[in-house]
Amino acid sequence: MTDLSGKHALVTGGGSGIGWASAQALRAAGATVTITGRRLGVLQEAVGESTGLYAQVMDVSDEASVQAAMVEAAKRAGPIDILVVNAGIAETAPTAKTSLDMWRRVMATNLDGAFLCCREVLPHMLASGWGRIISVASVAGLRGAKYTAAYAASKHGLIGLTRVLSEECMGTGITANALCPGFVRTPIVARSVQAIMARSSMPAAEAEAALSGSNRHGRLIEPEEVAAWVLHLCADAAGSVSGQTIEITGGQA
Ligand code: NAD
Repeated sequence: MTDLSGKHALVTGGGSGIGWASAQALRAAGATVTITGRRLGVLQEAVGESTGLYAQVMDVSDEASVQAAMVEAAKRAGPIDILVVNAGIAETAPTAKTSLDMWRRVMATNLDGAFLCCREVLPHMLASGWGRIISVASVAGLRGAKYTAAYAASKHGLIGLTRVLSEECMGTGITANALCPGFVRTPIVARSVQAIMARSSMPAAEAEAALSGSNRHGRLIEPEEVAAWVLHLCADAAGSVSGQTIEITGGQA
């Protein structure tokens, strides 16, 4: 079992879905965990009466918000050792119908946000000589799929950033890796199911099957299955794995 006692982990978009599952896994392994997001109420509700788990407002698309939140989080629970770059939005449209506004919204959260958070935690990790940056990218960061121009470009960019960080941090005790899940049972997918139902009048089970069918094993992935990889990459035993993309899709490409 990975022991993360004494480590401070910060999970962006940590109040729901994969972020929340990752936060719980990290806390269970002994880390002090800060979950961040835009709505304090949602974060506080998730934290509840837990100890060693803190809520911090941070809009990843806003440089000042990221900087202030990192300072606050470090003041409360110490320098950040583990960063889970998880906050993300998924908006889809055919490329010819993708507005510049939509493109920029997706990039601002999925890519600017990742860059800002990584930049702000690097000094913490370099000072301590240990760090883990785990980015929740997507299988859309590895391959193109119809109607995902902004999302796929942002996730390809996130994987590029991960590879650069891996090179820059070589020999420092810091690793950077990207997880690339297929469809995971989270609020993002629930919204996509609703959208398919609204567009096509399909029943819910059929709409869900339209998404889960593209996972190689034909079922939705559970958030805990992704969180298990977050945890594994935090282990000292994973210290020689960096700059990698780990596909979580139930099978081969
Ligand atoms: P989710 O909607 O539960 O999680 C996304 C989180 O990001 C939410 O908590 C949301 O509030 C937060 N967020 C959005 N914009 C933000 C901003 N500007 N600042 C701070 N927080 C912000 O859905 P999820 O599926 O758990 O998504 C988590 C990550 O996993 C995303 O990056 C998503 O792209 C990625 N992903 C999801 C799937 C899937 O099928 N669910 C597959 C591959 C990758």
